[in-house]
Amino acid sequence: KAIVHWFRWDLRLNDNTALHKACDSAKSHKVPLICLFVFSHDNFHAHYTSPARIDFALRSLKVLKADLAKLDIPMWVEEVTDRKLTQNHILDWCEKWGVSEVHANIEYEVDELRRDAKLVRAGIKKDLAFHFYHDTCVVEPMVLRSGTGKTYSVFTPFFKSWEPYVYKNGCIDHLSPPPSKNDPKLKAKDTFKDLFAQSSFPTPREEKQLSDKDSQRLTKLWPAGEHEAKARLKVFLERISKYADSRDRPDIEGGTSGLSVHFAAGTLSARQAFRTVVDHNTAKSLSSGHHGWIRELCFRDFYKQILAANPHVCMNKAYHEDYHNVVWEYNDEQFQRWVEGKTGYPIVDAAMRQLASNKHMHNRCRMIVASFLCKDLLLDWRKGERYFMEQLIDGDFASNNAGWQFCSSSGTDAQPYFRIFNPLTQSEKFDPNGDYIRRWVPELSKLTGKAIHEPKSRLSAAEFKKLGYPDPIIEHKFARERALERYKTGLGRN
Ligand code: FAD
Repeated sequence: KAIVHWFRWDLRLNDNTALHKACDSAKSHKVPLICLFVFSHDNFHAHYTSPARIDFALRSLKVLKADLAKLDIPMWVEEVTDRKLTQNHILDWCEKWGVSEVHANIEYEVDELRRDAKLVRAGIKKDLAFHFYHDTCVVEPMVLRSGTGKTYSVFTPFFKSWEPYVYKNGCIDHLSPPPSKNDPKLKAKDTFKDLFAQSSFPTPREEKQLSDKDSQRLTKLWPAGEHEAKARLKVFLERISKYADSRDRPDIEGGTSGLSVHFAAGTLSARQAFRTVVDHNTAKSLSSGHHGWIRELCFRDFYKQILAANPHVCMNKAYHEDYHNVVWEYNDEQFQRWVEGKTGYPIVDAAMRQLASNKHMHNRCRMIVASFLCKDLLLDWRKGERYFMEQLIDGDFASNNAGWQFCSSSGTDAQPYFRIFNPLTQSEKFDPNGDYIRRWVPELSKLTGKAIHEPKSRLSAAEFKKLGYPDPIIEHKFARERALERYKTGLGRN
């Protein structure tokens, strides 16, 4: 007999609820612990998971496998070609290895919940118990309720009840310890020779595989695994006191933590990060930097609970159903220019090029480019949402979907439809010297002053032509009026 921990996007040993429970159960039953990861191109494809994120997961798995091997715990990567057969694969695999219990952390997306529910039902018939745990959030979804008993749909009151709840209920006090060398010898190595022998991992998706060059570059930029997550957090702590001033500035290198990739892969637990930040703060109360960062972390919990409480957002639907009637433009050429960072709006182009290259984008820029796509270009936010998932190394359904719905005004706590970002004002405010633009848009690298933000209107026609930079794709003033009209009509507010 054996007990299994099934790794999903929780690729760490420290503070991993299900892994800890699986270890405890293995110890009390005196049976070996096996770890499992299910790798399915088909599943990644269905969820638009980016090659960069898959690559990051595989790199993190290698670290995990090595760490587990030191503890005599084998890890098996099961490859599944048809995602609809995942359940069968798991049940067969469990039967083959004499598994009596499978422990895993809950994923709140609809497909994943359905898969797990099916497994529980099938397991009952086979005397195979599946145990699922809340783990990814600091406070599990749906626990916090407003005075009327409803789940929160606005961030500020959620945060106001989340923060005291965390301290009062000890959410960050009792972190789950990793499996330890001192655990009783479970003889997994002898019993499961074949599992230990598996040496190679599946490769990232055939048709969209990262080139070797890209893979090497991303490996340097985003080192994987939980040790790297810890190291990145440590480096960020040196700058956290400046976070309140730097968090909105894409031009400031290291102004934010860059930890979202680790939260998305689960190589760092949100509770552990919270705990570390609180411990790092030496003053009596949290500094604005420490507190500001924890507030951002709360957004992650907030959006997970929005997803858990509103499964329809998983089905291509707007959170506010009345926004379904907004009529979008269908303009593939404009979408392509947005994707390629050739809109003629420097801040938008810089951000889109950063995404294409680093597979990450600063939060302020995510808002700017998302607003530009669905308000200025009036293109369906779902196109942008999908493109982000296909690119981002930190792609996370809940945060991405909520971020897009915030910008298209159809989400919870969204910006009202009549608040439309002006890309020029945003650029001047958040990249005041144009350093961010200069870094990502080489055509403009020699420009100084206001010209960097709006070259077309600040330079002579001849000077502009020489840059080889595109004309603005649309005039913002016109686009704004068009969006207001279209939203008003869609919402029946004319
Ligand atoms: P920091 O500023 O260091 O913040 C710390 C942590 O707080 C982040 O790592 C993240 O876990 C959380 N956080 C911060 N801001 C937000 C936010 N607005 N929403 C949710 N969590 C937040 N984040 C993702 O992790 N994955 C996504 O796919 C994703 N897509 C987005 C799409 C759009 C259109 C928008 C507007 C935002 C999106 N975000 C997403 C949120 C945010 O942009 C990133 O979490 C942030 O840029 C990550 O950088 P960081 O780790 O340096 O952030």
